[in-house]
Amino acid sequence: MCAPSVLAAVWAGLTRRDAMHYLAGMYVAGRLVANAEASQPPPVRSPGPPPTDAPRRSLPADHIVDLTHTLSPRFPIWPGNEPIVLKVKSQLQRDGFYANRWDISEHHGTHLDAPAHAAADGATVEKIDPRHLVVPLAVVDIRERVARDPDTAVTIDDLQRWEKRHGPLPAGCALAVCSGWDAKAIDAKAFLGSDASGTLHFPGFSPRAVEFLLHERQVVGLIVDTLSIDIGPSRDFPVHKLWLGAGKWAVECAARLDQVPPVGATVFVGAPKVATASGGPIRLLALW
Ligand SMILES: [Zn+2]
Repeated sequence: MCAPSVLAAVWAGLTRRDAMHYLAGMYVAGRLVANAEASQPPPVRSPGPPPTDAPRRSLPADHIVDLTHTLSPRFPIWPGNEPIVLKVKSQLQRDGFYANRWDISEHHGTHLDAPAHAAADGATVEKIDPRHLVVPLAVVDIRERVARDPDTAVTIDDLQRWEKRHGPLPAGCALAVCSGWDAKAIDAKAFLGSDASGTLHFPGFSPRAVEFLLHERQVVGLIVDTLSIDIGPSRDFPVHKLWLGAGKWAVECAARLDQVPPVGATVFVGAPKVATASGGPIRLLALW
């Protein structure tokens, strides 16, 4: 509902940029209604600003869980990638201050995939809207199934079962899958799950579940505790192409998702602000 008086009050509190976003939102909402009437599948929900009528959010911090692995040269990396090198550059006693030099891929350790990682016109990391980096966190737990099938993927059924128990996925949330895989990070072979043929094995998201999220829900980011949002055996990475292609971000190699409630936490994605970067190591924190 947008009575003129309500609209005027909202308008008075908006900056020009907010107003443009608001108008864009109204346009998208109009399109959604038109599409529903024509019984077309709804379009991909592109990440926009939080709705102007969203309830005020405060940020409790009674609990803070660090969802980040410590990055070191021992952390498992994607096969064929160059190793992580950390070198002491200055020593406190010798040089008056202590500093290292890092040689790290943008996709090592707990890290962010920016849309540009898999989309020619996708945003690079410094261009991601900060309002999409501090968002409600929903956690789907598939640990039981992973124990039987390491190549299992999050399905639409998993998401619908989660919503039955916890309510609709919060608008603008990040969706994490807790597979328990983070415990294997101390052993590169186990973390990659490589078999004799070199095929990797670990869980991820199914393309159908991601299509569902893109069209039916408002989720800004995906978080996995494995090396990839696609399952290990994937050769063509459909989930990367769909998700990053829609302008959304992903986090890979998260830790301790089992210590976070299924709903109710806020996740802070400490993405590096490096020009033209496709992603980068992050500090990932959950607060509630
Ligand atoms: Zn990555």
